[in-house]
Amino acid sequence: MSVIRASACIGRLHLQRWTHLQVIRPAAVPGYPSFQASTGQIKRWYAGTEGNQPTIKAVIFDMGGVLISQPAPIFAAFEESSGMPAGLLLDVIRSSGEKGAWQRLETGQITVEEFGKEFSKECSEKAGREFDVSGLLPHFEQNFKPIHEMIDAVQCIKAQGYKTALLTNNWKHKQDDKSLLPINPEMFDVVVESCQVGMRKPSPGIYETCLQQLKVKPEECLFLDDIGRNLKGAKDVGLHPIKVDNPNQALNDLSSYFTFPLQGFIEGTSAPRKGLEIPTDSLKSHLKTLGMTSTDDAINIRQYKHGQSNPTYYVGFGDRHLVLRKKPPGKLLPSAHAVEREYLIMNALGKHGVPVPKMVSLCEDTSVVGTPFYLMDHVKGRVFKDPSLPGFTASERHDIYQAMCDVLCRIHSVDINKAGIQEYGKHGNYVSRQVKTWSKQYKASETHEIAAMSKLMEWLPQNTPEADATTVVHGDFRLDNLIFHPDKPEVLAVLDWELSTLGDPISDLAYCGLAHYLQPDFPILRGISGCNLSEMGIPTMDEFVTQYCQNRGIPIVTNMPFYMAFSFFRVAAILQGVYKRSLQGQASSQNAKAAGLLAEEMAKLGWSFVEETPPPSTGGGFSRGGRVPPKRNYSMWSNSRRQYSTQVKPGLLASEVSGLSERAQKLHKQLQEFMQEHVYPIEATLNEHQNCEERWTHHPVMDTLKEKARSEGLWNLFLPLEADPDCKYGAGLTNMEYAHLCEIMGRSIYASEVFNCSAPDTGNMEVLVKYGNTQQKKQWLQPLLDGTIRSCYAMTEPAVASSDATNIQSDIRQAGDTLVLNGHKWWISGANDPRCKVCIFMGKTDLSADKHKQQSMVIVPMETPGVKVLRPLTVFGFQDPPGGHVEMVFEDVRVPTENIILGPGRGFEIAQGRLGPGRIHHCMRLIGMSERALELMVHRVQNRVAFGKPLADQGTIQADIAESRMEIEQARLLTLKAAHMMDTVGNKVAAPEIAMIKVAAPNVAQRVIDRAMQAHGGAGLSSDFPLAMFYSWARILRLADGPDEVHRRAIAKMELRKNILK
Ligand SMILES: Cc1cc2nc3c(=O)[nH]c(=O)nc-3n(C[C@H](O)[C@H](O)[C@H](O)COP(=O)(O)OP(=O)(O)OC[C@H]3O[C@@H](n4cnc5c(N)ncnc54)[C@H](O)[C@@H]3O)c2cc1C
Repeated sequence: MSVIRASACIGRLHLQRWTHLQVIRPAAVPGYPSFQASTGQIKRWYAGTEGNQPTIKAVIFDMGGVLISQPAPIFAAFEESSGMPAGLLLDVIRSSGEKGAWQRLETGQITVEEFGKEFSKECSEKAGREFDVSGLLPHFEQNFKPIHEMIDAVQCIKAQGYKTALLTNNWKHKQDDKSLLPINPEMFDVVVESCQVGMRKPSPGIYETCLQQLKVKPEECLFLDDIGRNLKGAKDVGLHPIKVDNPNQALNDLSSYFTFPLQGFIEGTSAPRKGLEIPTDSLKSHLKTLGMTSTDDAINIRQYKHGQSNPTYYVGFGDRHLVLRKKPPGKLLPSAHAVEREYLIMNALGKHGVPVPKMVSLCEDTSVVGTPFYLMDHVKGRVFKDPSLPGFTASERHDIYQAMCDVLCRIHSVDINKAGIQEYGKHGNYVSRQVKTWSKQYKASETHEIAAMSKLMEWLPQNTPEADATTVVHGDFRLDNLIFHPDKPEVLAVLDWELSTLGDPISDLAYCGLAHYLQPDFPILRGISGCNLSEMGIPTMDEFVTQYCQNRGIPIVTNMPFYMAFSFFRVAAILQGVYKRSLQGQASSQNAKAAGLLAEEMAKLGWSFVEETPPPSTGGGFSRGGRVPPKRNYSMWSNSRRQYSTQVKPGLLASEVSGLSERAQKLHKQLQEFMQEHVYPIEATLNEHQNCEERWTHHPVMDTLKEKARSEGLWNLFLPLEADPDCKYGAGLTNMEYAHLCEIMGRSIYASEVFNCSAPDTGNMEVLVKYGNTQQKKQWLQPLLDGTIRSCYAMTEPAVASSDATNIQSDIRQAGDTLVLNGHKWWISGANDPRCKVCIFMGKTDLSADKHKQQSMVIVPMETPGVKVLRPLTVFGFQDPPGGHVEMVFEDVRVPTENIILGPGRGFEIAQGRLGPGRIHHCMRLIGMSERALELMVHRVQNRVAFGKPLADQGTIQADIAESRMEIEQARLLTLKAAHMMDTVGNKVAAPEIAMIKVAAPNVAQRVIDRAMQAHGGAGLSSDFPLAMFYSWARILRLADGPDEVHRRAIAKMELRKNILK
């Protein structure tokens, strides 16, 4: 925040160019000053205006003097109260230059506390007597006021889809390193603070940082500031400055760029969308007939973004705050969008203990707003869009879910006869009728065949259970249809009764559990699948069902799987209707098209409940085709952590090969035979080759073996099904199946390459499968999958502690349509192999971005000029040819911008993804190495005699063998558990197990191999046995795959986060 007032009025420079153009004024809003744009002075500048002027895409706001009070008057008051000469503070700030305390404060070099001392000294020197001004900034922080009308404007602009940014010269405190940011940062897409980025306005760099983060061009941006100097700086980089002398004048200027009002923001709304505007005059006359407004009252009408189906509006005038809900325009599906019914049911339930908004009037006259509509009181409170309830404590979340459950029970407990709504719907056969209705609706809006929908339409009618009771059902009961008290976990109103009727209450219970089966990033309907619910305080679906049943005093519900399938079916049919309407241009939400596309996902999920129900333990059967499922307890199979997208059914962990699928067992056997016949016999040859002069080329036998393995189908076994669901690239095995196979490969350090399953290619291939674009896949993934080239991965740098990937310093800069890479890397495995044709390079593209958004990954062909290998490094004196582990530099390496993977700033995200399956392959192999080491040890000690008896008879040897067996079994089980969890609940939930095994496996292997070496005597350390090589790999993997300490830290953090005393 800058307090220097410049006299030059440069803020209007850009305006003068447009003096001939007319201004359209936004409608006045009650309670807000009317912003009169000076006609003929300002050009409106938005999409579709005349000329070739660019579209405005973003608005950048200064803070002090724009969104909160100007510091200068508050400083003046401080001077007066401290007996200082008037103007001294600003005088010192202005004259002290870049080294002065103020400038150092704003660039984050000193904190508020340090500033107090330095600035007191500067002021005292200037005034010629002692002053203590350490209270100045605390005084400001206590006395500034927010400028509400400007904050309102920010929200209106953002609600219309424009980007917003806060660009402030501010300061930070020493105690908590917190900066002065008294404005809710969520109002902005980007916040750039001088004290955080180390630059202050008007330095060009700070504007450029802001633009970079906004991803807009300067000419697409408006910039508001009260300081001339800052406005000039902004103009110099190409922004359009607006000078803020006072809020009204600034809003006047700003509003001339937009066609929507900049006042009257209401959370969750925007200006009414095109084609869905409400005719203000006729609504006004209607309100007048209801005795509610005089003709003088201006009306603020804003449309809620929420509500795909019936357009809903906020209507404010005088001190009345109403909500208007209407049918959408256009031809509608039969019996849909019945707002009259919504009015009726809310009116009735409101009188019988269900929290609903107070109904005001129903208007069926279509001449008022084009369709029937009703008005109700606006309820002020909180709406939770995200079912994971971020920002709440576990106990708050628990209370919120409890309140949701209570209100659902209250709805289902209303006596329909007493409430006079016994005719609100038919009695009995609710679910059958619903399936019929929604099947019909779905058919009417079908755009393409959805197989899962067809199957559900056939299966559901044949398996419908009898309902125990007929109650009011809400039909769309979920967390974000509830308005909670502003402070308490109390439901003030249940909204959106469009689908309500009389029916089977369990359908509501299942419907509000949809979130439990959807991923947190599921578009439109967010979920909580995969979240640690007990840690978060959110009941699992089982617990929620139990709570509901206890609350209603009914037995625990059985057949929940049926109701879940039904709920997903219904939501799929609804979404398909929304989609069809969007194609016809009638849907009431921008998201309608996207929503419709999810119909198929929902239908598949619904069908998965049918398919995944395990067979009953005794008798009968539960075939997909339609036999009635026997009554069974929901908790027997519900799995709230299941990922909707996973192809792998939750099942048993196969600790033995015999527990695997037939195909996996067959591959396992084949692999064992291949190892016996072809791999073990050539180990010595390959080992010798690694020590001869030609060691930096591969041995030709490797090509022969690779060809053979490929022809036998033992190829690319590593790509997990979840990353490659259509088996386009790999063998389509689960991580657990591969774990058993990979263990076999681990028995020889040469084996994994034979089957095209070796690092670092596997990790790189996974990256390209997951994140590569079509061209990248064609050029690099395919030859890697074919095994015709090899690759390397360059992250680690000698200059920084690379176990913390945020430390990486390599630079990636854009120059036109090329990227210029500079960096010094080391320990880059495989880079020396002549077959290594491509490198995935990690560097930084944006130093000012969030810590984890600075990095990017770029594909670099190895022959690109500037890629230089300096030397192979040695591990325990061994160079590990032909690939080696090398030190290399990238000097002004130029590659096309298209070589970036996923986009700038996504490098860390990719690195995290790369740490998934690929990384536990090492663990799987280490189990194989350990097994072989133990086998060699057992064989050796039985055939070697010392002090008159075989070594195997020595107690210490026996203890070593026993210890090794126990450790291997433990490590294998943990490896398999991690793999199984990756398959069934996803890598994110499996993170603790992945981290644990990464520490456990190499440590176990190191100990087991060490004991085997010891038992072999001198031979154990020689190259005559694979033990020494195994040992060095186990030791390497305690570092190369991330140091043990880093994984331990992660495990401990996850454990500490649980923080539960049971
Ligand atoms: C044989 C081999 C092959 C490799 N292959 C590749 C490759 O192909 N590509 C690539 O990019 N890199 C590769 N690496 C590098 C490897 O990933 C890094 O060595 C590793 O990430 C550690 O980084 P660093 O060496 O910079 O150690 P540093 O980050 O400097 O860490 C040094 C030590 O500090 C300690 N430490 C670090 N963090 C913590 C903490 N949070 N708590 C407690 N102690 C901590 C640990 O003891 C750690 O070992 C390879 C390494 C080896 C040895």
